[in-house]
Amino acid sequence: NTAADTAHKRVLLAKPRGYCAGVDRAVDTVERVLDKYGPPVYVRKEIVHNQHVVGNLRERGVVFVEDTEEVPEGSLLVFSAHGVSPAVREAAERRNLRTIDATCPLVTKVHKEVNRFARQDYDILLIGHEGHEEVEGTSGEAPERVQLVDKPEDVDDVEVRDPSKVVWLSQTTLSVDETMERVEQLQQRFPDLQAPPSDDICYATSNRQVAVKAMAAECDLVLVVGSQNSSNSKRLVEVALQSGAGAAHLIDYASDIDENWLDGVRTVGVTSGASVPDVLVFQVLDRLREYGWEDVEEVTTANEKVSFALPRELRKDLDENP
Ligand code: SF4
Repeated sequence: NTAADTAHKRVLLAKPRGYCAGVDRAVDTVERVLDKYGPPVYVRKEIVHNQHVVGNLRERGVVFVEDTEEVPEGSLLVFSAHGVSPAVREAAERRNLRTIDATCPLVTKVHKEVNRFARQDYDILLIGHEGHEEVEGTSGEAPERVQLVDKPEDVDDVEVRDPSKVVWLSQTTLSVDETMERVEQLQQRFPDLQAPPSDDICYATSNRQVAVKAMAAECDLVLVVGSQNSSNSKRLVEVALQSGAGAAHLIDYASDIDENWLDGVRTVGVTSGASVPDVLVFQVLDRLREYGWEDVEEVTTANEKVSFALPRELRKDLDENP
């Protein structure tokens, strides 16, 4: 690269990006359980949807299981940040498992809304992605009252008992714009449709989307650090493209960068999903520096100050048996 080439190359680094309060708490929970009780520690599903985080914890003795039936009776089991249905809690109880619940409080909030509207005999239209763990947990609170709305065409299939008693709720990690489109579609069919009492899409999801939107139009390429099964990370790729980025890719690691992507590129945007530790972003910046992108400018659209206390059942253990 000549000096002239380098002068035009810059990186825009989104802020906020990376770890949200719910992920921070969930990972901290598992680490503290490891310290306190030693391995093996059982965790139902991936604690958060990130390969690197899960791989590290696995090396330290965490055993990730798909189902409570895989956990030896009487052991300790951590529930992941995405939440679980009452049926899963009951299954854990039947196996006599001691559970620590790392469900994000903002997911729990949606569970409570489902319960409240189900008790009031509403039909609940849950906007979310089919098969995602969070949606399985949330709809499991009232399976007979909840209908999942994922794709635009799902709206036509919705059937309600009383059109004056319908509410929409959502998964926490959706695209804000796409969700509003789905809501408008639903309103066409159900003019009395009620909205959630407060936003279900969480602050971290929407803040990361706002940040990537603010820089996308200036970027020839946006790199989103995050795993393929991370809903909020995938949404960042879509939002970047919809907001004018020349191209956008989801990568787990710096080594996933394909040199061809950098052809003719001047401005590279970098951001990361809510389950991504910043060390992975720094490795991406290092790699870009090797390719000649030395100038890094942070684009800040919000300063986040949210944090959550550790699960109560864990705090109790840590206090009582120091
Ligand atoms: Fe909680 Fe939002 Fe983070 Fe999910 S993305 S863990 S809902 S703060």
